[in-house]
Amino acid sequence: MLTGKAIVVIGGDARQLEIIRKLSTLDAKLSLVGFEQLDDGYIGASKQAMDEVKWSSVDAILLPVSGMNANGEIETIFSNEKIILTPDIVRQTPEHCTIYSGITNETLNNCVKKAKRKLVQLMGRDDIAIYNSIPTAEGAIMMAIQHTDITIHSAKIAVLGLGRVGMSVARTFDALGADVSVGANESHQLARITEMGLKPFHTDKLIDEVSTIDICINTVPDLIITAKVLAEMPLHALIIDLASKPGGTDFRYAEKRGMKALLAPGLPGIVAPKTAGRILANVLADLLQAD
Ligand code: NAP
Repeated sequence: MLTGKAIVVIGGDARQLEIIRKLSTLDAKLSLVGFEQLDDGYIGASKQAMDEVKWSSVDAILLPVSGMNANGEIETIFSNEKIILTPDIVRQTPEHCTIYSGITNETLNNCVKKAKRKLVQLMGRDDIAIYNSIPTAEGAIMMAIQHTDITIHSAKIAVLGLGRVGMSVARTFDALGADVSVGANESHQLARITEMGLKPFHTDKLIDEVSTIDICINTVPDLIITAKVLAEMPLHALIIDLASKPGGTDFRYAEKRGMKALLAPGLPGIVAPKTAGRILANVLADLLQAD
């Protein structure tokens, strides 16, 4: 239980509501900043403005998945107010106060460093990345259905990268009957692809693998689908690039060649905000209870 813990939840989207629900059930004392337009009430939670929070008794600050922007502003879909978290505010918290954020950037890192507090970056954690790979794979299915006129079953699909997302994507499309090959650059990953009953290839040889594919799903966060690779793909091939911005595709060349190449960030929050929120809520609840 989180009885007696004072937690400030600042901004966010529908995923944050699952977190608020979970922490409220665990009896935390919640201050919700940037939620004026939220109609639902939660036991133990009160809506507050930044200057109403009693920072000196705050045990944890929860930022949204997006963290803060370069100016320290925190996004919220439940308010029109501008919310800014500064090092001066964080400094008012007790020394043990921890800041939790989905992702981080230089501004947030500097803010936490200046205030000498601890930052936990949730999206960097293996457990969250693996759980999140489930809605990400489902989002990739949605995009494949929306943007092709063929079935996934029997389609020739190349998945690039066998990390947390690549493994789930490859497995999911295989289970739907697609003809899946997976590109990786480490011998142990190539062995794992073979063990999974899929066709392995080294990404150095990507150019030789793409001439007959229908769909290419990239998870490698580096420019890997270059103009040279695109030039070898059939014109009808769909590219779904899941890697974080700017993705791993030469989108300019793909457009020039008349190919459909889609950068698809943030799929868990789009296709399954409730599940994506629960994933964060469960891990956060464990972390806060262990603190
Ligand atoms: P990950 O576990 O680090 O996987 C990335 C994989 O790419 C690693 O296995 C890495 O291998 C491999 N790789 C790097 N360079 C390569 C190359 N040249 N050839 C072959 N493989 C290469 O990361 P992840 O969690 O799967 O996430 C992948 C990307 O998807 C990230 O950019 C992440 O931000 C993004 N993402 C997007 C969504 C969405 O909704 N679109 C959702 C979740 C994550 P090594 O480990 O050997 O380097």
